[in-house]
Amino acid sequence: MKFGGTSVEDPAAINRTASIVAGRVTAGRQTVVVVSAMARVTDQLLRAATAAASGDRTGALAISSRLRARHRDTACALIKTPAEASALCNYIEQKFDQLDEILRGLSAILELTPRISDLIVSFGERVSSRIIASAFAEREISAVHVDARDIIITDSQFQKAAPIDALIEKRAAERLRPVLSDGKVPVMGGFIASNEGGITTTLGRGGSDFTGALLGGALAADAIEIWTDVDGIMTSDPRVCPDALRVKTISFEEAAELAYFGAKVLHPATILPAVRKNIPVLVLNSRNPSNEGTRIIPVAPHCRSPFKSIAVKKKLSIIDVVASRMLMTHGYLKAIFEIFDKHQCPVDMVSTSEVSVSLTVDSNDKLPQIAADLSQLADVKYEGKKALVCMVGEDIRGQNGIAAQVFAAIRHINVRMISQGASEINMSFMIEEDDADEAVRSLHAAFFQDPDPSVFDVEARKAAIGS
Ligand code: ADP
Ligand code: ASP
Ligand code: MG
Repeated sequence: MKFGGTSVEDPAAINRTASIVAGRVTAGRQTVVVVSAMARVTDQLLRAATAAASGDRTGALAISSRLRARHRDTACALIKTPAEASALCNYIEQKFDQLDEILRGLSAILELTPRISDLIVSFGERVSSRIIASAFAEREISAVHVDARDIIITDSQFQKAAPIDALIEKRAAERLRPVLSDGKVPVMGGFIASNEGGITTTLGRGGSDFTGALLGGALAADAIEIWTDVDGIMTSDPRVCPDALRVKTISFEEAAELAYFGAKVLHPATILPAVRKNIPVLVLNSRNPSNEGTRIIPVAPHCRSPFKSIAVKKKLSIIDVVASRMLMTHGYLKAIFEIFDKHQCPVDMVSTSEVSVSLTVDSNDKLPQIAADLSQLADVKYEGKKALVCMVGEDIRGQNGIAAQVFAAIRHINVRMISQGASEINMSFMIEEDDADEAVRSLHAAFFQDPDPSVFDVEARKAAIGS
């Protein structure tokens, strides 16, 4: 069971989480709990790190001091047993003393490396998991705090480390299985890991979902549960489209595509370990635990609606490479991609014509250098503030006229690039970032007016209209 930042954001949320876990344990389920840092803590730690590295020692320490107080207050509100309260508070003080030391050092060195950044953000999950383990124990769940960095072993690509499955499986068998067999509940932080040398790494932003899935895979769990602040995977981000509907079941392939193309509800890598071991993934709401959520399974049932959901990825750039001289030349595309490879810059979408190639990437600070390298081959221009809208559904396969309906729904919006994935389950297009929310709402209105009740939760919409 993985609980995200909002599910552990304050004492009330942690109490809700504890009752959900207690329910599973009472039902006799062996359970491993993975938690994120408390809501917004990772962002604040990153801000403290940036401030320190720019020489703003006071600013960095002020952020850390607010975080220290927030964790201390949360611990005090949750733990009433004096001995445990004092042990927990000592732990929190010690961790924040360590963090302050690092921030002071950073403000002298003035250089924030990815390795130090990972070390700094790791404090969020280290302290949240320790507090939550104590809170569980206080509520009669026999919880054991486990340092995730002893189990999740990765390579050394700081800030986006890749897990080493064989080692994780070995560590999980050695250190988690005995705890589980003892009837206890291991509680650990998501997102944080370490390389084989014991140096702290992280799995990338939103990576706690991935930790949950890696452990589910390593332990061959019956299910991987991702507990968050919405009822499941919805037909679009409910913050953009308030009448979004819950998707009851979705396939691994569809969910992976949605996650990759911006549906923040799941980290894109979450599905991989589940697919490998054929483990269902459930997305559930910790604020509404009786709701059945979304079930992600190998093959989703046939659905009358062509699409299951609409995702948006913002902060993208489009790069146009134009070279009439190189037209059809052997090795041209290879040369272009080698440049992206050299800069370790993943490409999301590609479109080629007789004379030009357009590519989209996450906006990043390597773009000027990438453009300079590409300009050795051809004329190059790039532009930021773009968004990719991605419509996903297995039932678009072989259906006529879907593209016409999509583009009719957004006829008032200028479309820069279009792609229909080879998997034939996604239709994506690139627009200006400022048009993205409006495009999603128009598409949602066009495609989810009469949703298939076997796949979408139409009852919730009826109830909302009724009230
Ligand atoms: P957590 O902290 O639990 O990991 P996140 O903030 O990472 O939660 O993800 C949940 C958020 O994802 C939701 O609050 C919602 O705004 C957003 N979201 C984006 N797309 C979708 C979607 N298709 N379905 C559900 N939620 C979505
Ligand atoms: N706390 C980390 C983040 O905010 C990981 C996560 O919550 O999944 O990115
Ligand atoms: Mg998340």
